[in-house]
Amino acid sequence: MGKMPHLAHELAVTGGARFKLANIDPAGTHGVEKDGSEERLEKNCKRLSVLQYQLYAESQRALLVVLQGIDAGGKDGTISHVMTGMNPQGVTVTPFKVPEGAETRHDYLWRVHNAVPEYGKIGIFNRSHYEDVLVVRVHNLVPQAVWSKRYQQINDFERMLSENRVHVVKFLLYIGKEEQAKRFRARLDDKTKSWKFSEADVKERGYWDQYIEAYNDALRKCSTPQAPWYVIPANKKWFRNLAVSEILIHTLEGMKMKFPKAPADLSHIQFE
Ligand code: ADP
Repeated sequence: MGKMPHLAHELAVTGGARFKLANIDPAGTHGVEKDGSEERLEKNCKRLSVLQYQLYAESQRALLVVLQGIDAGGKDGTISHVMTGMNPQGVTVTPFKVPEGAETRHDYLWRVHNAVPEYGKIGIFNRSHYEDVLVVRVHNLVPQAVWSKRYQQINDFERMLSENRVHVVKFLLYIGKEEQAKRFRARLDDKTKSWKFSEADVKERGYWDQYIEAYNDALRKCSTPQAPWYVIPANKKWFRNLAVSEILIHTLEGMKMKFPKAPADLSHIQFE
């Protein structure tokens, strides 16, 4: 242990316009050994469940966890490995897909705001409003004049949330292009995984560089003290899980939850 604040500081996106994904090694492990990592993750999951209980007991604040990643980056795996141990009653997971129905008849933040966790809960976004400056930008789904204003709008939105007791923490699960190919191949070769494979993913792979550029911009412009971005080197799943769990612990511990007082002085209550 003792690595916890360390990883949170090392992986946080700082430096504004100078930040570049190209400077990050997706296979990096920041000096953490694989040996013993499983035990460490298990311990972290237990700690997370205690912190979640405190958040729930207090019911004054919420935690919003944004998960983004290039296809096969491991969003689903992270949710299942890191959130295991949490009480399902205290967690919501919301996936964001291509907008449809009522979503298309509102501004892009409408569906997002609607899914923000209530006080006392942890909300996980599997994809998020960042798609509106990622896929939307890469494929020109709206003109540049529209998407380019969204960085500021997103910062304003996230600041509003934080000023209203919703803490925001954002993770980019960052894998290399080779690693993505490896994972796609594994999906094709494994009957239990091939259902996850879609040809659309292969098409998106052709836009790799454009996605990296769009991610660079989102990370540069939208990593703020009240809603920081963390880039998680995610080629190695054990490191990815460990890093996310440690940053979540760091975030929740920083919230310094307090148990509410019992409703009244209970000392006179006696049981037969
Ligand atoms: P996932 O890949 O997250 O497991 P899907 O395969 O259903 O789930 O992909 C969801 C798709 O929805 C992704 O291709 C993503 O880019 C797209 N998407 C999400 N939000 C938006 C948006 N606001 N505009 C356009 N496409 C979006």
